[in-house]
Amino acid sequence: MRTLDTIIIGGGIAGLYAAARIARRGETVVLERESAPGYHSSGRSATFCHFGIGDGLVHKLTAISKAVFAAPPDGDHPPLARRMAAFFIARADEREQLDRLTETTLAHSPDARQIAQDELREIVPVLKAGDEGFAAGLYDPDAYKLDSDAMLQANIRALRAAGGAMVTNAPVEAIRREGEHWIVDTPGESYAARHVVNAAGAWADTIAELAGVRPLGLTPLKRTIIAFRPPEGIDVSGWPFTKTVGEGFYMLPEGSGQLLASPMDEDTSPPCDAQPDEETIALAAWQVEQATTMPIRRIDHKWSGLRTFAPDKSPVAGYAPDAPGFFWLAGQGGFGLQTSPGMAMAAEAMLLGLDWPEALTAMDVRPEMLRPERLFA
Ligand SMILES: Cc1cc2nc3c(=O)[nH]c(=O)nc-3n(C[C@H](O)[C@H](O)[C@H](O)COP(=O)(O)OP(=O)(O)OC[C@H]3O[C@@H](n4cnc5c(N)ncnc54)[C@H](O)[C@@H]3O)c2cc1C
Repeated sequence: MRTLDTIIIGGGIAGLYAAARIARRGETVVLERESAPGYHSSGRSATFCHFGIGDGLVHKLTAISKAVFAAPPDGDHPPLARRMAAFFIARADEREQLDRLTETTLAHSPDARQIAQDELREIVPVLKAGDEGFAAGLYDPDAYKLDSDAMLQANIRALRAAGGAMVTNAPVEAIRREGEHWIVDTPGESYAARHVVNAAGAWADTIAELAGVRPLGLTPLKRTIIAFRPPEGIDVSGWPFTKTVGEGFYMLPEGSGQLLASPMDEDTSPPCDAQPDEETIALAAWQVEQATTMPIRRIDHKWSGLRTFAPDKSPVAGYAPDAPGFFWLAGQGGFGLQTSPGMAMAAEAMLLGLDWPEALTAMDVRPEMLRPERLFA
């Protein structure tokens, strides 16, 4: 049995961002079931950071995190993010939605501006505009394409530099409380610690049940992405992340010259190794073809992952009210990468009883907004 200060269950972006901070103040281990970090949601994301998703709390956590993404890279290591504009497109009957999004985006991204119908194709030349297509847009030049691998690796480096460890192939099979400690069993080793952080993504409620802790009622929703080459002669490298304000799709360029697209599917799923289905893959291609003049001849790759939401769709960080030392870091939904630095600051302060970080206070993010108690009221 290894005794340490904090055990973090889950080697996704939530667990690792928090681990890198928490390890500076006590011995910390991250236990990850799979053979590599980020195997589930964190490695299957569209990796974009923008204000067209989530509620006011998510927008504030995004703004806090954006400052981290905008900072220069650490030495020779790859940058965590690069600037890429976000472009939201609306049909004529979606004007109100576009105006609301413009207001929320401008609160955090003052250079954002609305785009008239006749300018839409200057930004994405293949878009259908007018009666058959889109009537207006919102262009935010200050959004970011994230690099999930660089983010995971940067946090693993920081965790190790602080004396912490990540153990892969370490599925947590049992959790029990003995005196002041939680005992966490994996097939290879058992660990004891005063604090357990539940950052198990889609499995966070399963982990709570293993520990005899009241679950939050998390819902994993499956989302699918396809990757395809644009038609010959179309250079997509300067295109923004383009997303419909209402139902529809999003697409964005990848470094390889490909485009990624998602039909923004949200099918309820049990926690699992999510796989794409033929119908949703076809829907993704259809959505792109309906909205643009671009035919999709071949889909090169496709994948699915789970976006896991709390019942109120806001993220959760804080001690379980019914279990001392059991800390929730869950419900990161479709914004877990873009909020991860801000969530990790909050988690560190709440877990260790530190002063509330200035960056969170400045954005009026308070601990009670994140605590699990709000879901049990
Ligand atoms: C298609 C798609 C597109 C997305 N696009 C974006 C985007 O553009 N921007 C954005 O910010 N977010 C996006 N997201 C959401 C983002 O990916 C998630 O919010 C984020 O990755 C969640 O991180 P996590 O660490 O909570 O979960 P995960 O990355 O799933 O990590 C949880 C880890 O816990 C481990 N685990 C579970 N049970 C156990 C156990 N018993 N023992 C040990 N380990 C265990 C799992 O193996 C897993 O590695 C997208 C998600 C999807 C699926």
